[in-house]
Formats: sequence, structure tokens, C-alpha cells
Amino acid sequence: REREAWEARFEEGRTRDGQRVEVAANLGNTAHAADAVERGAEGVGLLRTEFLFMAHASAPDLDTQIAEYREAITALEGRPLVARTLDVGGDKPLPYWPVPQEDNPFLGLRGIRLALTQPEVLETQLRALLIAAVGTPLRIMLPMVKDIAEFRQAKAIYDRLLAELPATERATDVQLGVMIEVPSSALLAPSLAAEVDFFSVGTNDLTQYTLAIDRGHPELSAQADGLHPAVLRLIQMTVDAAHAQGKWVGVCGELASDATAVPVLVGLGVDELSVSARQVPLVKARLRDIDLAEARAQAELALAQATSEAVRDALEAR
Ligand code: PEP
Ligand code: MG
Repeated sequence: REREAWEARFEEGRTRDGQRVEVAANLGNTAHAADAVERGAEGVGLLRTEFLFMAHASAPDLDTQIAEYREAITALEGRPLVARTLDVGGDKPLPYWPVPQEDNPFLGLRGIRLALTQPEVLETQLRALLIAAVGTPLRIMLPMVKDIAEFRQAKAIYDRLLAELPATERATDVQLGVMIEVPSSALLAPSLAAEVDFFSVGTNDLTQYTLAIDRGHPELSAQADGLHPAVLRLIQMTVDAAHAQGKWVGVCGELASDATAVPVLVGLGVDELSVSARQVPLVKARLRDIDLAEARAQAELALAQATSEAVRDALEAR
């Protein structure tokens, strides 16, 4: 079965009955983009750009960033790149960006909130991405956005750059989206969907914040299951709001490669799954095993349960 999956890895992600679901790769380093393509990734669905900032003693300058992003873009040969802007703070400190000691770093200055305290860093990153992606599809996404106000602050910087940079010197096939990883943004997805170009659900943080369980907790993290019906309802709200406005939705958290979850996510209407490069052939094989009607029935069954254990039991029994 693994061999079969490997041999079919360059086929487009589709269910047995033809529903298109893109399968992209999560990358922690631009140097891994070529390997992801070789494993059948249809693009990069999440580039965690933190690596680039962690690898330097101060924020990398414009040219350093352009060169790094180009490495991934070149390897992708025209496939889309979804790059997440810097997502540090909280559990991922940056030595040269001191954050005051916090009692609850996961609820503190992190993600977009931290980025907006030094907008010139975000601005340089956005500029580098736009310049690096001339002639190729670029999707930029903002981490940990909690509502439309944070999105608008970042979008104001982005819009100014688009106006400043001559169209021949920057990406023109470009979208700006947000990650859905804070419950408020899923609950308010209709208001966000009106202004963003796409959503990508970060199920690792969305599960952590919905269930109030630290994703790295030594004893509790096993209970932080993204197949919890509360999390699934938030994903459903996100997809419904996006599709009502003609926007697309990806899932880039761990749940996207969970064998039991793949049909549920497809049944909820997710348009793209972004998983570790190693998992790409297997996720495509799983898609080929299911019909959309069955996926929808599984999603409905999962949503009707009261706990994650009940969801897994019900899906396995089916
Ligand atoms: C997530 O939270 O699901 C996610 C993809 O982002 P990260 O794991 O980098 O926080
Ligand atoms: Mg996250």
C-alpha cells in the first residue's frame, strides 16, 4: 500500500469521485522544498519562517530573506507557496526580541500581536516575500489573528507595500490570509471572510485554545485531540463562512494527516490539506479511498458526538 501510494504521489489530490483537495507540505526550512516536491507536494501549505529568524543573531535583512524565500520558490517551479509571517513569542522566544516575563506566555505577546509591536520587522518580511515571488503564486498568512482589527493593521502595511513596489518587481498573483488558531477568529469567521483571501486552520493551536490544554503538556497533551467535536464545529464555521464569500480553506495543523480525520475534514469542505512532506503520498492515497458523500456522512457523525473519544469510536465503528 505504501508502495502504491508512492508510485501515485504526483497525481493531484482528489477523492475517489473526483472532489479536488490539494495536498501541500509544511516546511520548517526553505532548503526542504525540493524534497517536498519530490514527494508529491502540490505546493507548500505552511512555511514556518521562524527558522530564518532563529538562525541569525538579529532579524535577517531584506536581501538575506529574499535569497532564502527564493530557494523555496525556485524548487516549487510555479507551485504555490503559503508563507506564514514570523510567529514567535510565547513558547518560541527570539533572543534578540525580548518580551517581558509573562505568567502565561501562550496567552501573551506572540504571533501577530508581537509582530505588530515592531511593524518594521513585519514590513521587511512582507517586502522580501513579495519581491522573491515575482512571477509565481504567493500566499501570505498571518499567525494567531484573533479578529478583524489585527488583520486590518497588518493589511495596511501590506497594501502600502503593494502600492510602493512596481508591479514588475513583485509578486502579482498574491493573496493575504489568516490562520484560524484562536477560537475567536473561528467564531467571527464571517467577518474575517469578507476581507481575507483565504483561511488556514492551525489545528494545533486551535485545539490548545479551545480545550484549554497546553499542546506540550507532559500529561494532558494526549487529550488535546483535534477531533474533539468542539474543534470540529469551529472548523465547520470557518469553512462555511469562507465558502459563503468564495474563499478557500486549508488545514495545516497535525489533524490534516490524521488517518481518521482526513475524511472528516474533506466532509466539512476543506479545500487543502498541508502535512509534513513525508505524509504527502499517504494523504493523497487516503483521499483516493473516499467518496465525498461518505466523507460528509462521517463529518456529520463526528459533529453529533459529545467527546473526542466518542468521535473516534463512532468513526471507527463505521
Ligand atoms: C498550528 O498551530 O496548528 C500550526 C500549524 O502552527 P504551529 O504548529 O507552527 O504553531
Ligand atoms: Mg500555531
